Amino acid sequence: MDCLFCSIIKGDIPSTKVYEDDQVYAFKDINPMAPVHVLIIPKQHISSVNDITEENCAVTGHILAVAAKLAKELGIAEDGYRVVSNCGPNAGQTVFHLHFHLLGGKKLKVEMC
Ligand code: AMP
Ligand code: ZN
Repeated sequence: MDCLFCSIIKGDIPSTKVYEDDQVYAFKDINPMAPVHVLIIPKQHISSVNDITEENCAVTGHILAVAAKLAKELGIAEDGYRVVSNCGPNAGQTVFHLHFHLLGGKKLKVEMC
């Protein structure tokens, strides 16, 4: 399967790693929208939130735990941050491997839509 983020996990495409374990990989977004902009992705290919099921959803809880840990390590936990996953064209999803943006380090816009 031709997937940019699967290629990043395999190391075929370079990335700036922030965290890795057996289930997830986290790396710096190539086009940061905030001083801290990390992408946290499952190592298993899941295309988007649309493809989260009762069978594969455990990793999403783990991703949120990793987001909380990284937020503390990166010094943004106290001031606050956002964790967001875009799903499909109306949300502007551009890479179809599930990912959670961890954004912080500045006052983020409160616009939800
Ligand atoms: P989304 O628009 O929610 O699908 O987010 C995809 C994100 O992936 C965007 O914020 C891009 O800047 C980021 N991105 C695309 N290619 C790379 C790459 N090679 N390394 C790191 N981040 C990337
Ligand atoms: Zn993939």
